[in-house]
Amino acid sequence: MNANDHIKTQQLQNADAARHLHPFADYSKKNEQTSRIIVKGEGIYVWDSEGKRFLDGMAGLWCTNVGYGRKRIADAVHQQMTQLCFYNTFFQTTHVPAIELAAKLVDISPDHFNHVFFTGSGSEGNDTVVRLVRHYWERKGQAQRQVIISRLNAYHGSTMAGASLGGWPSMHKQGGLPLPGIVHIGQPSYLEGGKGKTPEEFGLEAASWLEQKILELGAENVAAFIGEPVQGAGGVIVPPSTYWPEIQRICDKYEILLVADEVICGFGRIGHWFGSQHFGIKPDLITFAKGVTSGYIPLGGVLVGDRIATTLIEKGGEFNHGFTYSGHPVGCVAALENIRILEEEELIDQVRLNTGPYLQKKFQALADHPLVGNAEGIGFLGGMNLVRHKGATVHDNIPFDASQNVGMMCRLNMLDAGVIMRLMPGDRLLTSPPLTMTHADIDEMISMITSALDKTFDTLKQQKML
Ligand SMILES: *Cc1c(COP(=O)(O)O)cnc(C)c1O
Repeated sequence: MNANDHIKTQQLQNADAARHLHPFADYSKKNEQTSRIIVKGEGIYVWDSEGKRFLDGMAGLWCTNVGYGRKRIADAVHQQMTQLCFYNTFFQTTHVPAIELAAKLVDISPDHFNHVFFTGSGSEGNDTVVRLVRHYWERKGQAQRQVIISRLNAYHGSTMAGASLGGWPSMHKQGGLPLPGIVHIGQPSYLEGGKGKTPEEFGLEAASWLEQKILELGAENVAAFIGEPVQGAGGVIVPPSTYWPEIQRICDKYEILLVADEVICGFGRIGHWFGSQHFGIKPDLITFAKGVTSGYIPLGGVLVGDRIATTLIEKGGEFNHGFTYSGHPVGCVAALENIRILEEEELIDQVRLNTGPYLQKKFQALADHPLVGNAEGIGFLGGMNLVRHKGATVHDNIPFDASQNVGMMCRLNMLDAGVIMRLMPGDRLLTSPPLTMTHADIDEMISMITSALDKTFDTLKQQKML
């Protein structure tokens, strides 16, 4: 870092604090906390305005699956912007990028997906899900089927419908949410609810909450169940293996639509095009965003399964829904190029068969560290909890007092060590790195994490906080 960079950084930080209202931020603190300014990305690394390099263990925000700085995506975007920067897909018009991307998505998705509805983001995708699901049942002559069942601690975005489907009380409090007809059951978190049970027993129990809720509401009133195959922003919660097959059985039994929010799990993150393929389930709708373009340009959408598409095509009636940027041509070409990279570099097979298992082996071994109570994950997702005392099982671990801010201390040590992880309440740290990581990259990341854990542990010992 040189002095000039430092002064320039401070000026930018002050300008940012003065005018920029950040997402998910407390504005009373905006003049106390300075933001890190990221200026460059290449491969799995980003650099800040003072020249410090970080290994991006969060892939931006769960999205830069093919890594930073892909010139071929930039070239495709440049070419498209020059050729046709925008046109809408309303009023019986279309354009080649939307046609090609729809065909490609149908091609890579399970056989029963033959249609796609485009949006600009994951939240808009889930808003589309709510309207599509209710439109479907109305067209089927069962308009009373209104209720959508979701889960506590789910994350489905930040629009009114997205936040309603999500299960975060902090979001529901603001804006009078959830919307009518959206209800929540418990999440399949073994750490939270599995004490005294095997993961398999707990998975069945957590799925049974869906059946209980359906019976309580009356199956004839229930439209759909929605879930992330693996909860992402809620803390990388991998359900026990028994969970999803039982959810599928229950949805089938009561003829309830199953929606997989694949905004994080899609496009290779857990070693398949879609996370639902790993769990062997057959959703009627798939929400996608993030990894579809690796974040190079915003784009999202919903894959619409035959059960719904066929009914809507047969029964007719206008679907009064859509966005100016539904199928934005520049987003579509970015997605097409991103998908070509995933295919040509066989990144999804790598994650399933090679680098994913390697990352899991190394990441889960962090649980041997005296500060780490548990470390789990799947594919290129991982989460671990820092604990004061390790018990005989994960359910006997004793956490730190929240006021000690141990997670924050550790996260700052990680940044010092050169790696970005995300911090959750309960001193839980998450990773979701670019899918391009090699074994050597994974070793580097794990060694950075380990040195940050060691430093945190030493400080805690010195300060008698353990
Ligand atoms: C990020 C996310 C969303 C919201 O996507 P946006 O593009 O931020 O609107 C929805 N669902 C899941 C599972 C997500 O991780």
